[in-house]
Amino acid sequence: MIVFDLNCSQGHSFEGWFKDGAEFTSQRRRKLVVCPACGDTKVDRALSAPRVNRGTSRASASAVAGSSGKTPQKAVAGDGPTPEAIKAAMLQLRKYVETNADYVGERFPEEARKIHNGEADARGIYGEASEEDAEALREEGVEVQRVPWIRHDS
Ligand SMILES: [Zn+2]
Repeated sequence: MIVFDLNCSQGHSFEGWFKDGAEFTSQRRRKLVVCPACGDTKVDRALSAPRVNRGTSRASASAVAGSSGKTPQKAVAGDGPTPEAIKAAMLQLRKYVETNADYVGERFPEEARKIHNGEADARGIYGEASEEDAEALREEGVEVQRVPWIRHDS
């Protein structure tokens, strides 16, 4: 599945889940993608992707905590996406994060706090964080997402 940030022509933002980009295009053409706020079907993808930090005007940090080397332990049954589709989506997510966020490695919790406190430039970062680190950051109000981190070569 892919999550797209969507905007309707009235300026509402919402998220849509699609099997892949082609499915979004096809549903949109058939006017099946509907704004939940106003019912508008003139929907477009927002320029930024979700799940990853984007520059915000408020001084808050958003961050992505990767768990490198581990593959997610989630089971999909029935008509869910194929393993290939999931892998492709995870690779796409990884690529997006790598392109749009700074890698800070083990300094992730420290750096996320700095950004949150305005001591470092507001930007997207990613790196390693334990579940405890991520939880502590969330309690401090830092926006942290843990993402499945697939190896390119797996
Ligand atoms: Zn709308």
